[in-house]
Amino acid sequence: MSAAPVWHAPHWQRLRAALDADRLPHALLLCGPAGLGKRVFAQRLLARLLCTAPQQGEACGHCHGCRLRLAQTHPDAYAIGLGVNREGKPRSEIVIEQIREVCERLQLASALGGRRVALVDPADALNAAAANALLKTLEEPPAAALLILLADHPQRLPATVRSRCRRVQFRLPPAAEAVAWLQAQDLAGDRAHALDAADGNPGLAAGYLREGALARREAVRSELAQLLARRADALALAQSWAQDEPRQRLLFAAQWLAREMRAQAAGERGPLASGRDLRRLMRGYEQAVRTRELLRGPLRADLALLDFLSLRGD
Ligand SMILES: [Zn+2]
Repeated sequence: MSAAPVWHAPHWQRLRAALDADRLPHALLLCGPAGLGKRVFAQRLLARLLCTAPQQGEACGHCHGCRLRLAQTHPDAYAIGLGVNREGKPRSEIVIEQIREVCERLQLASALGGRRVALVDPADALNAAAANALLKTLEEPPAAALLILLADHPQRLPATVRSRCRRVQFRLPPAAEAVAWLQAQDLAGDRAHALDAADGNPGLAAGYLREGALARREAVRSELAQLLARRADALALAQSWAQDEPRQRLLFAAQWLAREMRAQAAGERGPLASGRDLRRLMRGYEQAVRTRELLRGPLRADLALLDFLSLRGD
């Protein structure tokens, strides 16, 4: 996501006003679905806060503060991500040592005399101990410091943490804004189709266009339709899905099943033309969602997929 999308504007203006009035909160929670540019927003704010000569409310890009930030060596900017563990393997959660280290640094005086800013991303990956450690800092926030938390799934954060952050909630923009933004991106392919596939999420639609996911989605539709008509082999499909973006395929499968249900409920012919009853489609939908969650873990994808693709219970 390059230039700031138009749906960021109200949030940006509100924060800018708070900043101008020197009433910026100590902690922000940027949340909402992936694909709406929360990280772009966070970086824009971080840049603005570390810039020593902002122009029209934006970072100038060439002062000392900006240069250090661009070189990723600004002494007052900290970023916490998933990182790697002692064995060098990627972590699946943010751990207490990471939070402690940053919170200790936030207590120190600013190196360049401005604000200190810490970015926690993804904040919904904080484990319980880390969230607790963060809570202590949120309860007694150091002066001239800002914590920016990013979360696609804020409900995974403890309510105590959420309640001590100013929430900046990103929502799906109106269709016209989403289409206009997509048009301005350097992308090939059918944008309206991509936006429909992404249920109106412009960043997700752009991702689909970039990676050619629409063809995969269409394949999932036709394979599901064949399965429901008992004209496909679940085992062969499970093996082929396991080789190529199984979680995305399950997302598309759940979406097609949901659309099939909606069409049936409205007495129309659905995208899967299944003729199955709603109860059975619902079971398939739930299993697609569940299997997708299961595949986050170290599970054999083909076996989990076979379980779903057998569409048992009918
Ligand atoms: Zn600057």
